[in-house]
Amino acid sequence: MATKPQSRTQRKPQSPMGLFDIDSLVSEEDRAIQGAVRRLVEDRIKPEIAEWFETGSIPARDLAKELGSLGVLGMHLEGYGCAGMSATAYGLACLELEAGDSGIRSLVSVQGSLAMFAIHHFGSEEQKQEWLPRMAAGEALGCFGLTEPDFGSNPAGMRTRARKDGSDWVLTGNKMWITNGSVADVAIVWAQTEDKVRGFVVPTDTPGFSAPEIKKKLSLRASVTSELVLDEVRLPESAMLPEAKGLSGPLSCLNEARYGIVFGSLGAARDCLETAISYANEREIFDKPLAAYQLTQAKLADMTLELGKGMLLALHLGRLKDAGNVRPEQVSLGKLNNVREAIAIARECRTILGAAGITLEHPVMRHANNLESVLTYEGTTEVHQLVVGQALTGKSAFR
Ligand SMILES: Cc1cc2nc3c(=O)[nH]c(=O)nc-3n(C[C@H](O)[C@H](O)[C@H](O)COP(=O)(O)OP(=O)(O)OC[C@H]3O[C@@H](n4cnc5c(N)ncnc54)[C@H](O)[C@@H]3O)c2cc1C
Repeated sequence: MATKPQSRTQRKPQSPMGLFDIDSLVSEEDRAIQGAVRRLVEDRIKPEIAEWFETGSIPARDLAKELGSLGVLGMHLEGYGCAGMSATAYGLACLELEAGDSGIRSLVSVQGSLAMFAIHHFGSEEQKQEWLPRMAAGEALGCFGLTEPDFGSNPAGMRTRARKDGSDWVLTGNKMWITNGSVADVAIVWAQTEDKVRGFVVPTDTPGFSAPEIKKKLSLRASVTSELVLDEVRLPESAMLPEAKGLSGPLSCLNEARYGIVFGSLGAARDCLETAISYANEREIFDKPLAAYQLTQAKLADMTLELGKGMLLALHLGRLKDAGNVRPEQVSLGKLNNVREAIAIARECRTILGAAGITLEHPVMRHANNLESVLTYEGTTEVHQLVVGQALTGKSAFR
């Protein structure tokens, strides 16, 4: 007797990433790292994050130690206590962290890709020995001061100055929107000198340094954002990063951090989409689940497509980076696309949740608000359009 075919209306649901079989593209080792970070996010971040976001405060130093124990701080760097893992594994860790909250991923990005990368790549042996092992363990926190009140997209205009006084350097100026600023033990500060822009390793207890926290944010509330005030900060000659000369130094650090965002933003999008699917399955409207309406399914299908395409792009860039071949304009492609799609997904998911979508009971609007910052930092959407435009035409349209 012929068996009855499975009903077309009763298929077992698949996850958005499962539909693309994304896991089959990731090595077992990288998947294990991703799983460990996901567990930390589930156990430690998700239960607390709404409270941290609402109060605008996070236990940054405790979290840094926990993230350090897991090995995610500077995890793609070699030596000096760093885990030396693949760029793809680092990207997947960023994805899981940002599924928790963009603020937590920001803490890790700034520590590993900006502050530690700058010291690792451009620092003296003495600077590396002094800071990197403690930063990898999360015992010391770093920040990265490039942006100024009047110079964000155009850091070349920066007014912060470093002048020589005998063998010392004296730094004066203001930096703005600096992640981890008020909780950092060390600040990497970029300043104009008589001979190009140079980077300085500034212990934050140096006289003349202060970092007032920026309040009243509506985005990245679970992240410390600060101004840096440098009032005649006197440093020894050895504080300068010897191998970075000119803006290419800080720009190469930003390229590292924005690579993490290519993956990270998709973590926020995945969390929104999974929340929306689960909500739509449970919410009954006009006597049937919201998930059973064609309009809802069209939204879910379109969002899943963008999430999956973004993931394929991220993994492609990860492979290129692991092979040492990724170019900055390719990372711009990834940041431009994935953050833009992630914020579109977050906003669309919010519509599925209706009024419930506007509270911290669900992660969706928190992610959407966070992604407003992610859209802006590490190069705005417009800046990356200009980078890609220049790559395509050979013509710079920045000015
Ligand atoms: C939460 C948060 C954390 C941050 N953390 C850090 C940090 O740790 N360290 C750090 O150094 N910085 C940090 N930043 C700063 C961030 O990198 C800057 O905000 C960003 O570079 C944009 O600069 P801006 O805000 O001054 O905007 P502006 O440069 O004033 O840009 C304003 C608008 O003009 C557009 N625009 C710029 N140039 C052009 C052009 N040529 N053509 C057309 N449009 C253009 C921009 O795209 C944008 O839409 C952070 C920012 C935020 C929000």
